[in-house]
Amino acid sequence: MKNLITKIKEAKLVGRGGACFPTATKWEMVKKAKGNPKYVICNASEGEMGVFKDLYILSKYPAEIVKGMVLAMNYLKTKEAYFNFNSSYYKQTKHKLNPILKKFEKKGYKFTIYKESPSYIGGEETALLNAIEGKRIEPRIKPPFPSDVGLFQKPTLVHNVETLFNIAKVAEGKFKPNRFYCLDGKIKNPGVYYLADNLTIYQILEQTKNLPKYGWFAQIGGGASGLVINATQAKLQKMTGAGSLEVHSTKKKPRALLLEWFKFYAKESCGKCTPCREGSYQLYQLVKKNKQIPWKKIMDIVDVMGKTSFCALGKSIVVPVKSYLTNILKKKI
Ligand code: SF4
Repeated sequence: MKNLITKIKEAKLVGRGGACFPTATKWEMVKKAKGNPKYVICNASEGEMGVFKDLYILSKYPAEIVKGMVLAMNYLKTKEAYFNFNSSYYKQTKHKLNPILKKFEKKGYKFTIYKESPSYIGGEETALLNAIEGKRIEPRIKPPFPSDVGLFQKPTLVHNVETLFNIAKVAEGKFKPNRFYCLDGKIKNPGVYYLADNLTIYQILEQTKNLPKYGWFAQIGGGASGLVINATQAKLQKMTGAGSLEVHSTKKKPRALLLEWFKFYAKESCGKCTPCREGSYQLYQLVKKNKQIPWKKIMDIVDVMGKTSFCALGKSIVVPVKSYLTNILKKKI
């Protein structure tokens, strides 16, 4: 009979937190790393606009999430696991989750629940280690990666909620190459959908009866940091990042969209590095205070942030702004 790690490899399982790192490789890295105890963490702390699949999965499939964690703990020969929870998600799902955890606790497994106010950076895999350890919530320098030096300096396996769901399904022989899509924005049927992972954006909208009858464009992978594409590109483009699909009318004012994005970045910047801390604040002020969008200044700041920010949050800002300019506004700056 095949063991679980072989089945995970054959299913070509990748992480669903956004980075798409192969799950089996991550397991093997933590297994090989020196240090005990090893830890497993379920990251249930989504903090980006338009991304809300964790709450849906936790509410509908709590047994699968815990099963995925226990399977990972057994593979790593550890009994210690943590949840990094968006506090409101914990409040809404604890009545389902806690009885399942209790059953495993009777068998010697230990689950510690850490709750935090929802934030983007709180879900970053090294910032959440700091949070659980009671330190300032900001990303750590990588390498070393958490697989080698993670929680309390020990090898740590951090998985997103959806990845744990997939691990349980592989173990049960019921895995499908699907993913959870979060659909939001100016559409008829917003919500979370579980569909094949190779669909184009156009097909996703069609299959969920959300294809707009008006001029539209979409932002995919994250409601702030995601790629912006037009309706023609949507016929070829597949999902990226954290699985969100936000639909906008082509009549949406550029200033309104930039204000949403920059407000998010200014609020979510953890302040550790200057380009992101100062850049995100300046971007928000520039758009807020000027009726005409100062595109040249904006692009200068965005480029610097993309090249010099410490972590994925600050670096990612070039993606929405540049793709919006090129694919929707058809502007060259
Ligand atoms: S890029 Fe932003 S969020 Fe990331 S470390 Fe720098 S200030 Fe913090």
